Amino acid sequence: MRNILYPINSRLVDTFFFGCYLPRMESVPCEAVVIGAMEYREADKIISLFTLEHGKVRGLARGAKKSVRRFGGALELFARLRLRLILREGLATLQEAEAITIYPRIRSELPAIALAGYACELVDLLMPEALPNRRLFRLLTSYLEQLDQAAADPADRRFFEMNLLNILGYCPQLKECRRCGAILAGEGGQLLRGVPEGLLCTRCGPGGRPVSAAATDLLVKCLQVGRFGAVRFSPIELAEAGALLDEAIAPHLHRPLRSLAFLAQVGLQNN
Ligand SMILES: [Zn+2]
Repeated sequence: MRNILYPINSRLVDTFFFGCYLPRMESVPCEAVVIGAMEYREADKIISLFTLEHGKVRGLARGAKKSVRRFGGALELFARLRLRLILREGLATLQEAEAITIYPRIRSELPAIALAGYACELVDLLMPEALPNRRLFRLLTSYLEQLDQAAADPADRRFFEMNLLNILGYCPQLKECRRCGAILAGEGGQLLRGVPEGLLCTRCGPGGRPVSAAATDLLVKCLQVGRFGAVRFSPIELAEAGALLDEAIAPHLHRPLRSLAFLAQVGLQNN
């Protein structure tokens, strides 16, 4: 993993502290999406950011609950920001932040809020700190834009997940049996619990949940079209694709997703 300690810059003025000269850390400009936030002490917040330049960064926002001047209410979940950070190993410090957009239309619809929160939590759990991933940043911001512009659609969630898994190298095997390598042609494949890496043929995966070739074709299409809203699933195909993606994501999470309860409340889980 890359070391995010900001390099000592000889141009900076050193500060005398406890008998030592310490380098003064310089703040760096970033663009980021807020993927998590928690209250900290009386007036502060700890913010999880997915930054374009430095990947996932956790930062302390001093006075965030009171200082409208410095943060202007920009530190809301899934807001897209321009900000200045002092990067340190462990916890960064947020100096100032300005919202590029808070995606206002997402915030007026409960299903869209639930899906945006889910997408952010997935990125938070799946990404290690300090590993930049510009493709994933573009995918997340494209999904937030889609949620902000169009009605919340469970197909877009599955489009997001399929591309997320592909970008991170966790894409399930869809067209060949994961065990014996047989081509899964028109009959599709079998999804077996505990085999998240892909589908099995009927011989290798008896008693599995069938996933049709039509559903796997649509998931492959999700990787090819590069645009939200372009892949349409029937309800049956969506259920099959959803089961497969849930199974593929699960082993990479170190704790259960809290946002699933909210998705269930607004009728979007198991879609
Ligand atoms: Zn097989």
